Amino acid sequence: MILEPYACDPARSLGRRFFEPEAPTRTAFQRDRDRIVHSTAFRRLVYKTQVFLNHEGDLFRTRMTHSLEVAQLGRSIARALGLNEDLVEAIALAHDLGHTPFGHAGQSALNACMQGYGGFEHNLQSLRVVDQLEERYPQFDGLNLTFETREGILKHCSRNHALEIEAVEPAGVGSRFLHNAQPSLEAQLCNLADEIAYNAHDVDDGVRSGLISMEQLQELPLVDEFRQQALAAHPHLADPPQARRLLYESIRLMLSAQVYDVIEATQAAIASAQPSDVSHARTMPALVQFGASMRERSLALKAFLMHKLYRHPQVVDTMAVAQSVVHDLFLIYSEKPGEMQSGFAARAATEQARTPPVPAEARRVVADYIAGMTDRFAAKEHARLTGKHMLV
Ligand code: MG
Repeated sequence: MILEPYACDPARSLGRRFFEPEAPTRTAFQRDRDRIVHSTAFRRLVYKTQVFLNHEGDLFRTRMTHSLEVAQLGRSIARALGLNEDLVEAIALAHDLGHTPFGHAGQSALNACMQGYGGFEHNLQSLRVVDQLEERYPQFDGLNLTFETREGILKHCSRNHALEIEAVEPAGVGSRFLHNAQPSLEAQLCNLADEIAYNAHDVDDGVRSGLISMEQLQELPLVDEFRQQALAAHPHLADPPQARRLLYESIRLMLSAQVYDVIEATQAAIASAQPSDVSHARTMPALVQFGASMRERSLALKAFLMHKLYRHPQVVDTMAVAQSVVHDLFLIYSEKPGEMQSGFAARAATEQARTPPVPAEARRVVADYIAGMTDRFAAKEHARLTGKHMLV
């Protein structure tokens, strides 16, 4: 791997929170990637979903396949830009670890339950997973990842939460939210690869589910341009039985065009800003970017998916049920913490025994427990505790 001077170099990492000797055969970022792949939270991504619920079909994307797609897109772009592929892969594989069951519906329900107790943010939860909640190592909680991987995982963070992080970790991963600085170029790249991946696969899943049609997609300049290109190169794809193949080819062309666009626009931004190293790049406006025209077309696709897919009555109905499942679970566990698995029940008991009581901490245990659940475990727990079979 040939790294540009503005790429993150594992030999000059800002380090781990707990000292560990270097691994003999792997760089610090490769080791982070391996720790993430071996974590419990990573395995749970198989049964967590974003738009469609896990039981709705076996072929829809899960958080696991989404994370792999982000890692693969990210690595391709990183290689072309001379950025650190291993770091990109580590961030991409970890970026969704803190997601609740039932996608955005689960996240907003849990955030509503946690109002008055510090709220719930999935990016912050991803960091909690790798910093505290994974219990795998004898010497520390969490996975003890490098600063660079943790910085990339914390994509967004409110000012209040950034202040809390800063209090325990001065000049740490919360700092940039207080000083309007950017993360490394590898972290910036993961954000964009995330967006490219979900726009493309939600089009695919949306059509597969029957909730959006090929006719609707033709209204979108970004998709239609590549549909026309595919038809021009392969006229037989116009036959109705070839519709699925036409969709795949259009998406493939769209993905490639977006990847080339990011590479070109970012190379131009880097050439004009001339970052000398990573810390210099962090002080500049974001350099990893789409060109203006692709940005506009990508935003139009995002807006389309918001209106036609994420707010489709059928999706909204299922998500409303999912929200009430999360809400019910939160109330039940808050009242009867002994219903949680032993580690969480014990943590809740410790919190409850505190004088004076700290209600936010006791509620945080419940939020951690629910956030870690897969869609199907949450549905099963809900059925066990309420006798109602809402999602199974
Ligand atoms: Mg994502």
